[in-house]
Amino acid sequence: MKKLLVGPVEIPNFVLEAMNYPSFSHRTPEYEKIQKKVENQLRKVFGTTQEIFVLTSSGTGAMEASIANCFSPGDHVLVPLVGNFSRQFAHMAKAYGLDVEEVVFDYGEAANPERVKKLIRPDTKGILLTHNESSTGIQNDLEAFGKITRNTDVLLIVDSISGAAGLPLFMDNWGIDVLLTASQKCLMSPPGLSFISLSDKAWRRVEESTLPKFYYDLKSYKKFNEVHQTPATPGIYTLLAVSAALDFIEDEGYEEVWERTASNAEKLRTGLVEMGFQLFVKDLESASDTLTTVYIQGRSKQVQQKLVEKGFLVAGGLTPYAEDTLRIGTMGYVFMQDIDELLEAMKEVKDELDL
Ligand SMILES: *Cc1c(COP(=O)(O)O)cnc(C)c1O
Repeated sequence: MKKLLVGPVEIPNFVLEAMNYPSFSHRTPEYEKIQKKVENQLRKVFGTTQEIFVLTSSGTGAMEASIANCFSPGDHVLVPLVGNFSRQFAHMAKAYGLDVEEVVFDYGEAANPERVKKLIRPDTKGILLTHNESSTGIQNDLEAFGKITRNTDVLLIVDSISGAAGLPLFMDNWGIDVLLTASQKCLMSPPGLSFISLSDKAWRRVEESTLPKFYYDLKSYKKFNEVHQTPATPGIYTLLAVSAALDFIEDEGYEEVWERTASNAEKLRTGLVEMGFQLFVKDLESASDTLTTVYIQGRSKQVQQKLVEKGFLVAGGLTPYAEDTLRIGTMGYVFMQDIDELLEAMKEVKDELDL
């Protein structure tokens, strides 16, 4: 079964094998060496010279860390709503007592930076932005948002859980203040770890933040990072997996992986449209390269089932489009041949279901 999923994605064998390793302690040079290497490789993925912190949580934990460390109760933040994951970011900020202003965009549409910019007030403290919205299949223009927040007091906080290691990222050059991702998407590893990095501007805000935090207290992580350790026991085995995945990515080349991801997605979109399928994204310019959402009104579950019979596992849609969309992942271990074969299968399914 070829899995073209959107997380957790298929784990290649060499990544699985990296976890077949004798137990060891995270307070040893053996561990420190691995974490240090992963930090260095993730700097390339993020496009930063800042420190990378290893959190033992899914991506949601890193999202929570970004809020708990950078804000104080009542802080005004803008959250461009482009789908379910950005909505979750907004809910989380509300749970922490922030003054959350949602900027709603249509499903399938990317966030318009100019519209968000107009809503920035003198007391606005941050923009919580989803890099790649995995529920709809759009990618936001981080560089444009960075231009808005740079030289202001507004922190640009980016959830790149389904973007990092698949999409180009230039945290420092684009002026991203907090960037976070997780192990089970483009890093093609098991779930369990998330990674976060902060700009100098974000660190200054950490000093002022009065929200309660302990497990996700990034000042504590910073201290332990001096020796490439974490405050509590990390998910060592997921780290071994991520380390092997990053070696693979480094061998291929960080930019080459972005290019492979983009050309796979381009091929997939073109092939689907030529066949008469409709894409969910409103404007191809903002189509995600790590997942493609196909709109098949009322019949996406049937198509998903037919694809299983043909050896392909793709992701279903999310509410409110659970019955109408399919999400095809091009993150991680996906190559052009997989796309060609999937397109063949989609053609057969189209004929069989008379779509
Ligand atoms: C998967 C995903 C999440 C949720 O991450 P978990 O690792 O499941 O906590 C959040 N945001 C985006 C954009 C995602 O793709």
